[in-house]
Amino acid sequence: MDSRIRVGHAEASGPQPGGPDTGPTGLSLYVHIPFCETKCHYCDFNTYAGIEALIPGYLTALETEIRFWGDRLDRPAVSTIFFGGGTPSYVPIEGIEAICAAIFEAFDVSEGAEVTLESNPGDCSKRDLTRYLGAGINRLSIGVQSLDDGLLKSLSRRHDSATAIGAYRSARDAGFDNINLDLMFGLSAQTVDQWRDTLDQTVALGPEHLSLYALTLEPETPLDAMVKSGEVEEPDPDLAADMYLYAETALGDAGFDHYEISNWSTPGLESRHNLAYWLNAPYLGVGPGAHSYLYGPAGGRYGAAGSWSERRFAALRSPRRYVDLLGGALPDGDPVDALSSAGLLDSVEPVTPATELADTMMMGMRLSRGIRSDEFRARFGLELHDAFGPLIDELSGMGLLVDDKPGIRLSEDGHLLGNEVFERFVTASADVELPGS
Ligand code: SF4
Repeated sequence: MDSRIRVGHAEASGPQPGGPDTGPTGLSLYVHIPFCETKCHYCDFNTYAGIEALIPGYLTALETEIRFWGDRLDRPAVSTIFFGGGTPSYVPIEGIEAICAAIFEAFDVSEGAEVTLESNPGDCSKRDLTRYLGAGINRLSIGVQSLDDGLLKSLSRRHDSATAIGAYRSARDAGFDNINLDLMFGLSAQTVDQWRDTLDQTVALGPEHLSLYALTLEPETPLDAMVKSGEVEEPDPDLAADMYLYAETALGDAGFDHYEISNWSTPGLESRHNLAYWLNAPYLGVGPGAHSYLYGPAGGRYGAAGSWSERRFAALRSPRRYVDLLGGALPDGDPVDALSSAGLLDSVEPVTPATELADTMMMGMRLSRGIRSDEFRARFGLELHDAFGPLIDELSGMGLLVDDKPGIRLSEDGHLLGNEVFERFVTASADVELPGS
């Protein structure tokens, strides 16, 4: 699937998020499913084709990890759950049902929690869709990518446009009332007219949410090699910018809120799970390669107020090793230390006040609402303008930022140069003196 962001963090020391504008109130849980029927040639996610024999053992290991976290964190509140990968819909429905049941037992899943599952169009049978709903999944994300059959082939996708439209209709018929469609633009040899056709047809379907991703050439993917060898044309960034601008206008006219650089929703139906990442709120990832951001004193409970001993950590990437290691006993005590000493984590990093600041700026500036002055003050104990005044003035003068009373946000021109703006704030964060740091 193609949700590009696999990160997020803070509640006790930061704002108290709640509601669609401000994100979830509890922990956000990401569940990684590392299986795909075939590997798309542009994809660098931690996902594999041809290891289906591992699926039963993997589901057992995943359930073990879920119960481990529920136990060690004392059944914490969870307000969003996201099954991503990989292709969660490629796993037999009974497996997804068992994982959902384990999550609902191990965690205190709030009423009205957003529970999303990523799916490939070819996997969306009516029967399975109905069972997803029965298991508690209430939001479906479908990897449509394009409604042009030639472009889908060039992306090495297995589905065609008719299958994608059929999957959307089946999800509606099954009862899903919150559907995201992923689309890609800026593809090799894609014309603006082809993009318009895909976008216009997609809007006509009436989804609640759209995620639009520009193709990026990831190093060491087959597509990268094909472009380097001249077999495939290099994507044109100017054309991609034209496509993005068309999307901004067309989706605005259709009534969508452009709430994050790559995401649009009908009012109130932003992805609450991804808002946790952009608001730098806490999240737990389970499965190989999953990232987490928790905080609290070592050995203490997650979310202890006022603590700066926050940690980001990433699980080891190999699904096979993940299954093997979770088959053994795990040490007692602090859960991050326990997984680390069992060999299940690739990295554990403390989050300092400076990195917390840099992350908050980098992720928050992606949102159309930007960084709010009151939330910044509550989280860091100083005024936004005291921290970044000269930079805010410079970027506002260049027309890249809007600086008004609620806070700062990217201007329309700034959207196309977002990465440069984020980098400037990350660099400037290193020089900010935070109270108590
Ligand atoms: S289906 Fe999604 S996760 Fe799987 S290989 Fe293709 S892009 Fe990657």
